[in-house]
Amino acid sequence: MAPVAITGTKKFRNYVGGEWVDAAGGETFESIVPATGDAIGEFPRSTGEDVDRAVAAAKEAYEDWRLTPAPKRAEVLYRFANLLVEHKDDLADLMSREMGKVRVEAAGDVQEAIDMTLYMAGEGRRMFGQTTPSELPNKFQMSVRMPIGVVGVITPWNFPIAIPSWKIAPALVCGNTIVFKPAEDTPLLAERFVELLEESGLPAGVVNVVHGFGEEVGEVLVKHPDVPVITFTGSRETGVRVTHAAADQLKLVHLELGGKNAIVVMDDADLELAVDGIVWSAFGTSGQRCTAASRIVVHEKVYDELQTLLVAAAERMRLGPGWEADTDLGPVINRASIEKIHAYTEIGKDEGATLLTGGEVATGDGLEKGFYYRPTIFGDVEPGMRIAQEEIFGPTTALIKVKDFDEAVRAVNGVKYGLSSAIFTQDVNRAFRAMRDLHTGITYINAGTTGAEVHLPFGGTKDTGNGHREAGQAALDVFTEWKAIYVDYSGKLQRAQIDNE
Ligand code: NAD
Repeated sequence: MAPVAITGTKKFRNYVGGEWVDAAGGETFESIVPATGDAIGEFPRSTGEDVDRAVAAAKEAYEDWRLTPAPKRAEVLYRFANLLVEHKDDLADLMSREMGKVRVEAAGDVQEAIDMTLYMAGEGRRMFGQTTPSELPNKFQMSVRMPIGVVGVITPWNFPIAIPSWKIAPALVCGNTIVFKPAEDTPLLAERFVELLEESGLPAGVVNVVHGFGEEVGEVLVKHPDVPVITFTGSRETGVRVTHAAADQLKLVHLELGGKNAIVVMDDADLELAVDGIVWSAFGTSGQRCTAASRIVVHEKVYDELQTLLVAAAERMRLGPGWEADTDLGPVINRASIEKIHAYTEIGKDEGATLLTGGEVATGDGLEKGFYYRPTIFGDVEPGMRIAQEEIFGPTTALIKVKDFDEAVRAVNGVKYGLSSAIFTQDVNRAFRAMRDLHTGITYINAGTTGAEVHLPFGGTKDTGNGHREAGQAALDVFTEWKAIYVDYSGKLQRAQIDNE
């Protein structure tokens, strides 16, 4: 792997059929470092023609790859995991530049990809089906997982190494081939990811990368007749577009979308622990996680104390480039994001919420070169306000005061999303009611809303997705179809439901 490029505008390419190639149209776009506004590389601005080539390469490679024994497919993943370990530091450095998250979180992002790759490599020798007795004599039956074909992988920029691994590792071990359309804000990390896959010995055409924009490349991939499966992580709005685009061909669509996650703090909570959990969940990755805690639902008895502690903690955070060791809060991804976050600050003020801290673009100490926003906390937020309903995807959180547990549950559940929730309480009965009643795909007890591990299902209820789950065993359901197989060794016609009396 080449040394990590941190400045300059080196040109990068698509990866199609095992070759690094320019886009057919020859156009390019730049990847920008959010901490400084500098370009970090130039990437092909691909079009439908590039998608066609990549899909053709993936389709051709599929015939051999699906017949490669799963344990052999897994060997490539084991090598890939080792390479990720070897390059963990380079990748984390690069991520703190290209995506902007702080170095320790960037290393966590890479570690998640290592964990996921190893877990899915293990599936090469599991991928269990079932056998079950027949109702007829001398008959055997089983179910097996079958690969599906070419998978279109479309990812966001906020977990630029982890999320591609969540999709690509299970899809590969199950025997599918891939056309990967990475986020346009983090193409260099996608490039490195695929370089390491290539170095792992993946046959040509099994994974292909087409850089470019959502409407120009992503949508073409979604509509391509030779791509039966789409796995998409991104915003709810784009998820709806993807669903429409895939509908005519009845494609299998897996969606992981936005969140409006809440942490409940009850009157018996360990408040210092709760503040640690809130700061990590609301401001980690500058609030740009799908599991970010953008609502804090607080029992009225501890509301004032929690507010004081939380505001103090937010004001202690040091803003700076992700790669500097003492940075607590890195930049957000781009200028449009700063504008969106600030627009929500204005909306919150107009709605009558109290701005307790932050609420402005950060300047000074060179911060004005990048896209920095101060950690922002609103108090006196009503559950129905837009800042308590809509995904902001920045370092903004809203304090909502409640009288009791039931009101807290209603507030948590009263949004269209359902990804993650959390409760801080010492009461085991309440904790179990929360596990049952909070209508989200993930619930944490005495921890913040982020921190998923790769061997449990990941995803959300309601508008956070369409019922699928990523990670763990659940991921295999996205990338395989069940086949039921009946073997009759009686030597005569035996009719199910008829000849079994
Ligand atoms: P986005 O929807 O703008 O973009 C995601 C990807 O979709 C990008 O690669 C983009 O180029 C592509 N895209 C855009 N328009 C498209 C179209 N019409 N057809 C096909 N592809 C298209 O999202 P983003 O800003 O990159 O990411 C942030 C969002 O992702 C947030 O809503 C966040 O909550 C969500 N997210 C969800 C999860 C999860 O697992 N639930 C994880 C991370 C991020």
